[in-house]
Amino acid sequence: MAALQLTGVGVSPGRASGPVVRVADPLGEPSAVPAPTDPEAEAGRIAPAAAIVADRLNAKAATVEGDSRAVLETTAAMAMDPALAKQAAKLVRDRALPAPRAVFEAANVFAAGLEAAGGYLAERAQDVRDVRDRIVAELLGIDPPGVPELSGPSVLVARDLAPADTAGLDPAMVLALVTEEGGPTSHTAILARSLGIPAVVAVRGVLALDAVGLVVDGSTGAVEVPDGPVEVVAATVQAEPEWDGTGRTADGQRVKIIANVGSADDATTSVAAGAEGVGLFRTEFCYLSATTEPSVAAQRTAYAKVLTPFRGKPVVVRTLDAGADKPLPFLTPEDEPNPALGVRGLRIGREQQGVLDRQLEAIAGAAADSGAEVSVMAPMVATAEEAAWFAERVRAAGLPRAGVMIEVPAAALSAKEILAEVDFVSLGTNDLAQYVFAADRMLGALAALNDPWQPALLRLIALVGDAGAELGKPVGVCGEAAADPALGCVLVGLGVTSLSMNAAALARVGSTLAGVTADACRHAARAVLSAKDPAHARAVARAALHLS
Ligand code: PEP
Ligand code: MG
Repeated sequence: MAALQLTGVGVSPGRASGPVVRVADPLGEPSAVPAPTDPEAEAGRIAPAAAIVADRLNAKAATVEGDSRAVLETTAAMAMDPALAKQAAKLVRDRALPAPRAVFEAANVFAAGLEAAGGYLAERAQDVRDVRDRIVAELLGIDPPGVPELSGPSVLVARDLAPADTAGLDPAMVLALVTEEGGPTSHTAILARSLGIPAVVAVRGVLALDAVGLVVDGSTGAVEVPDGPVEVVAATVQAEPEWDGTGRTADGQRVKIIANVGSADDATTSVAAGAEGVGLFRTEFCYLSATTEPSVAAQRTAYAKVLTPFRGKPVVVRTLDAGADKPLPFLTPEDEPNPALGVRGLRIGREQQGVLDRQLEAIAGAAADSGAEVSVMAPMVATAEEAAWFAERVRAAGLPRAGVMIEVPAAALSAKEILAEVDFVSLGTNDLAQYVFAADRMLGALAALNDPWQPALLRLIALVGDAGAELGKPVGVCGEAAADPALGCVLVGLGVTSLSMNAAALARVGSTLAGVTADACRHAARAVLSAKDPAHARAVARAALHLS
């Protein structure tokens, strides 16, 4: 029996329960006021706070082995660096700053110096900021930000999580993830699905609950506080439907069923799940914490690891899609008032052509190393002129096929002109929905507008499908819409030629498509285009496809 139940949006399936560990909110910039009444005493608080942080890190290091131990010990040594404490204490004395503000400013100067030095040293700048936040939190008497070290399997509860934090979660320790904010197509949701961690986002009130344990259902979105003590139960893997691994309708129309990947682990899991190739390799997921541009050689090695399991198979590599909710520290402009509408995706590539050209060189090398049939596509393209420019860069790098994502409404409206410039397009329905409805995909409160069954979104997709048919060029979908089995059939009816999704969805989408004819897909597509809302669209599509 549940003593209390909250509901959010289930974004990664599975039911699990366990003790709650709260992820502290990100630390804001500490205030420069009030000035300390006794600067000498205030300055004297800094070194002991740093020592406490170092002791904690060393104690944790003693409980682990290998790389984790080395990382924790190095971070502890940074906390004990007398130069940082001395410089911060000087700021307290000279400028009458409170100690947390002084540590913040002193550490920022150190981090900027490391970044200016470049190379290996620049990569340490992020560690200095980590130490900074830990000491500031200690001085303020609050929990350090980020995901804490877990001492056992736990349910994580957070206001929201950055993609970089989510990517680092250990599925063996994190039973489930619950966030107060967040939307179903946010990158945190996408990463939770790829890690197989049950997740519910937009659970209003979960932070105020202060529950000791939770039962989480990532399929229905239910989050329950149990009546008695909570049992530790990991999600069970759901039985896969039968699918022979070749994407086609019941009457034999070929539709490639391919995978979205962001790491070598994703690639291995996707091959095991029957992926015919990759429709979206999110290269930026390899570099969510990188503070400097990775070298061509490092990129080539990283990409080859993801491509190698797909030797002889088609793989679409997307160039870096930095910006909005996945800023890359070395690339994304700071302080844009509206990052989702800012210089992101290909727009950065145009401003910093060297970064794009070096990435293309690395992709070409990785293609040769791995034997995968590599195509390259650009994110956030708005015009045919941008598409032509990108295709030219791809060919100059010796890569055989160039495509672009259709995720900006202007691109959908110009699909024919864009397709004339490139070899294929792929619909990014996550961003296309957020831009067509002017509804931030990270906001749980706007999840209904970001529903991929929205008829207005489907009408835009139909324009792109028609353009593909007219020019005889492939039109894929690699947004989350492709992972919905019924919607996948509708997309095929709208002219889509490949569906790309997380590994867990492949068999369900493949087997559903194998059970319906191409005619039924077209019938369903016509029906959704005149539906009045998402619920109506779902109902008419299921009826046309004879799905229960
Ligand atoms: C999309 O926008 O639908 C997409 C596939 O790209 P991302 O989710 O990485 O923004
Ligand atoms: Mg996108």
